[in-house]
Amino acid sequence: MNPFAADRWPAELPPRYWLADATVPAALRPAGLPARLALRVDGERIGAVQPHAGDDAPVFALDGATVLSAFVDAHTHLDKGDLLAAGLAPERELFAAVERVRADYARWSEAELRARIGFGLRCAFAHGTRALNSYCDWSEPAGPLAWRVLQALRREWAGRIELTLTSLLAIDELADAARGETVARALAAGGGVFGLFVYPGAPVELLPRAFDLAERFDLRLDFHVDEHLHPPAANLGAIARLARARGWGSRTVCGHACVLCVLPESERDALLDEVAASGMALVTLPLTNLYLQDSTASGPRRTPRRRGLLPVHEARARGVAVAIASDNHRDPFFPGGDLDPLQALALGALALQLDAPVEDWADTITATPARLLHVDWDGVLRAGAPADLVLHPGRCSAEVLSRSGHGRQLIRAGRRVQPVLPDPRELDNLRH
Ligand SMILES: [Zn+2]
Repeated sequence: MNPFAADRWPAELPPRYWLADATVPAALRPAGLPARLALRVDGERIGAVQPHAGDDAPVFALDGATVLSAFVDAHTHLDKGDLLAAGLAPERELFAAVERVRADYARWSEAELRARIGFGLRCAFAHGTRALNSYCDWSEPAGPLAWRVLQALRREWAGRIELTLTSLLAIDELADAARGETVARALAAGGGVFGLFVYPGAPVELLPRAFDLAERFDLRLDFHVDEHLHPPAANLGAIARLARARGWGSRTVCGHACVLCVLPESERDALLDEVAASGMALVTLPLTNLYLQDSTASGPRRTPRRRGLLPVHEARARGVAVAIASDNHRDPFFPGGDLDPLQALALGALALQLDAPVEDWADTITATPARLLHVDWDGVLRAGAPADLVLHPGRCSAEVLSRSGHGRQLIRAGRRVQPVLPDPRELDNLRH
């Protein structure tokens, strides 16, 4: 029987209760406990995690349903999200999408940004996300309008979604030392992360300046790097060597690194060895990368042959921390997505051939990105941790991912919450 049928699972949970016979992935449970276990929720926190429920509180038997900590999405673009609702068209190629969005900045108003970003946050919350990193296209050195809107929404959403905000500007802009300093100062003042776009042919000789500024202003670094399939233009190694030399690996994240999948295996392995030695982490973005990589900007549609995904098995085998994240949603880069990390994991499970994706890879959307974003709780379900949970009736990966969007239950601060996904028609008035 579905443990979340209305006669077994009340709309309101008591202040103290057991979730018994829950299936919890190894990365999310304390060492030494079996996969099937019981959690006692005491108010807003987890009070106990043990093999079987006690008799000191009401027991809700989950009959093997999966329990995860609430999701952490390491890589999103809230500022651009839902631009399709404003009338922009999807592009077929990364740089065409970049140009399309740049040409649209001047039109963005505070009201539209609030509407689109607020919509995205409601989607993320309804899917079970508790913390999220959004980039912000950095169109003005001291921070664009979207940055100010994102900061205001970060305050408004505190307690529901913990927002990390990260700049996104081309590495070229560091050629002007004063400009780079202005950016870093604005990020430090706003509690932001220093995010840079390192594209093929980018002036990588400017990378040391990024690390200089990160050290001087005490900023974490986050690179969009190698979102392409041209091996001679690979830049990931330059970042890994600097992160290692500067001792900044635990504060450096690289997203995309698509080129790794087309390098000869020996070169790929050597590059992953450098990433591992640096201590920096990688984020793979299956939705946008599967859509944009090996695509052409114009002409008749051709079927892609090279899929542009980071080699996660080889990275993980070297001890590199790997997260899976959403990236773009309903914007010129990607005409889909809904800021649902479980959807990203489900797609990754197919595209990356993950064995037991929920049991063995759930950390890529929970504990690992929590570490990358330096959020307070690492997402492991232990006594004392926040009772922020995502429950799914599925008992194994096949049952969870084949119906990933159905039957999901959310518990936040110990209480059952039932947010409704916002309807896209709410954004119809943005069309221009
Ligand atoms: Zn991105």
